[in-house]
Amino acid sequence: MKTTLINRLNLWALGKGLLTTITQFFGTRAGPKLVTVTYPERRLRLHERFRGLHRLERYGDGPNKGLEKCVGCALCAAACPADVITVVAGENDPEDPHSPAERYAEVYDMDILRCIFCGMCVEACPTGAIVMKHDFELADDARGGPQGGPDKFIYHKEDLLEREFHW
Ligand code: SF4
Ligand code: SF4
Repeated sequence: MKTTLINRLNLWALGKGLLTTITQFFGTRAGPKLVTVTYPERRLRLHERFRGLHRLERYGDGPNKGLEKCVGCALCAAACPADVITVVAGENDPEDPHSPAERYAEVYDMDILRCIFCGMCVEACPTGAIVMKHDFELADDARGGPQGGPDKFIYHKEDLLEREFHW
């Protein structure tokens, strides 16, 4: 086959590449084909099932209203492939229980930098105590830790129960 000058200089490929660039450029500026957003001022809508940061839940109504859903069974810790979760169970005081079961999580820590956000902990939980919300911004300007105060990336039970979510 005869090799033309156009083929030898790859002008077709060059032209197709330029066309793609121009199309994307004007598509992005025009809006409907938006591929880049000016985060954090503008944010993409997340999928309903997006798995972001965790929260521990309380009962919102009924006879157990206000009690922690977590019963300290540690199934979430057993299911976690990245060794993120540490649970130490305690016995409930019948006069002032933390949860409606015999036991509750006396300690519930998450080493969140290890987390791969797979959702296995949520799947494993028999009471729906641990859920994953839409927040994902966990960056900080310092980690802390033994030399610099508490490690900001070890989330304790209180953080997980009380955290406010923005999404
Ligand atoms: S989302 Fe996955 S990696 Fe993260 S704590 Fe849960 S089970 Fe572990
Ligand atoms: S979050 Fe769920 S699975 Fe984990 S210890 Fe609490 S009740 Fe058990």
